[in-house]
Amino acid sequence: MTMETTLLIIGGGPGGYVAAIRAGQLGIKTVLVEGAQLGGTCLNVGCIPSKAMIHAAEEFHKACHYAGDSPLGIRTATPSIDVGRTVAWKEGIVKRLTGGVGALLKKNGVQVVRGWARILDGKTVEVRGVEGGGSTGAGAANDAGGQTTRIRCEHLLLATGSEAVELPFMPFGGNVVSATEALSPETLPGHLVVVGAGYIGLELGTAYRKLGARVTVVEAAGRVLPAYDDELVRPVAARLKSLGVELHLESSVLGMSEDGKSVRMKNAGGEEVAIEADRVLVAVGRRPRTAGFGLESLMLDMNGRAVRIDNQCRTSMRNVWAIGDLTGEPMLAHRAMAQGEMVAEIIAGKRRHFMPAAIPAVCFTDPEVVVVGLTPQEAAKQGLDCIVANFPYAANGRAMTIEGTEGFVRVVARKDNHLIVGWQAVGSAISELSTAFVQSIEMGAQLEDVGGTIHAHPTLGEAVQEAALRALGHALHI
Ligand code: FAD
Repeated sequence: MTMETTLLIIGGGPGGYVAAIRAGQLGIKTVLVEGAQLGGTCLNVGCIPSKAMIHAAEEFHKACHYAGDSPLGIRTATPSIDVGRTVAWKEGIVKRLTGGVGALLKKNGVQVVRGWARILDGKTVEVRGVEGGGSTGAGAANDAGGQTTRIRCEHLLLATGSEAVELPFMPFGGNVVSATEALSPETLPGHLVVVGAGYIGLELGTAYRKLGARVTVVEAAGRVLPAYDDELVRPVAARLKSLGVELHLESSVLGMSEDGKSVRMKNAGGEEVAIEADRVLVAVGRRPRTAGFGLESLMLDMNGRAVRIDNQCRTSMRNVWAIGDLTGEPMLAHRAMAQGEMVAEIIAGKRRHFMPAAIPAVCFTDPEVVVVGLTPQEAAKQGLDCIVANFPYAANGRAMTIEGTEGFVRVVARKDNHLIVGWQAVGSAISELSTAFVQSIEMGAQLEDVGGTIHAHPTLGEAVQEAALRALGHALHI
């Protein structure tokens, strides 16, 4: 069977499906090929399920806290958790969202072909249908289920995402799992060892600890969340300690013991030790998914393991585009979506470039961490003379009322014209402030704009205004 289309998208993650929806809205004939589930890593085994599990773990942890001696005066009997039910609840959210994506694609006239795409050349792709697959969409005549379909296109958009990095001496399988398996546990391990203290390892490690497992984290760098600065990470490290998470920093794993019951590692002192573990989560990073679908046949320029793109997401081959995790860091769903939307608009004839002033990054740890724009160190490296000011959550009334006084909001602004170039923050529910941070930078706000805006009281957002006022030398509540 052969199909013809204007735009062919490989991959139905946040990059691919958003590109397809926008292309559909703009009247571009679009086919989207997805081998697994619509929604990609983000909706199925990434952002959404991890945040659902983090929420469930937090609620359970709170209930346990109330069963003890809560200063709020709340008393409960000793709670228990049915992890099967928790996972089923999470799956329900995933199903609702992925079903919603399918409905949006259909509404916008996108033809979805279920199957694994293989690139033949820059304009031709072969799709091996998955059993029970089939297509949905306007016209929905094509069914790739169990057969091979050849699709010819004018524009090919690559959005195949990324995959978890496997340690060659500790491959996935059995008790050694990636985040995907860790998000759907059938049982809770007695002792979970997490390899890697980046955001995925810490988000899931903290959740497992709050669900009642013993958790040990092994990290090669000298601190957790090594991509972030020390001051920002300190409240997270302190919380891990108070939760009883064991940390082994400057330590590297060597593999599993022969009986598969322990993780062998070299600790900071250079000694080889074994930590018994009944499950091991390897979270040492993700890499662009470039193998197994004929990408190499296009001989595109690469940027390390990622596909090289320009600021319109064009690859080195005409009318072949690439977006999302396939194009490297930052591997974030909102970047993939923004790129996808832009590519659809360029193909429709609009003038667009991918030049965001900032892309927010959030760690849903306890407490949460947000980084937007330049840190003081990055600003200095760029030769910018900046004012840096912090406002602590401990001086924010709302933070006290939600028992979350750990953390702060930090602003970085140019000294000469007070233009805000960066925000960093750590604290309870701080992820929701990322919107205010990124809007101020994208809109070119100066300290006076944020300091002079009336922020609702009592809210955590007042810490944003106070940080700006403090940078101007006249904070009110400190
Ligand atoms: P993906 O979402 O990976 O989608 C690619 C799709 O392409 C997949 O569905 C795949 O099946 C399909 N595909 C690949 N090859 C083929 C082929 N040959 N034929 C057909 N289909 C193919 N990001 C955030 O912004 N915030 C978070 O809080 C966050 N949390 C995360 C938590 C975890 C545990 C993980 C693992 C990731 C998290 N991420 C988060 C990262 C986020 O999931 C990714 O950045 C995002 O999904 C990338 O989108 P994408 O469209 O580039 O690729």
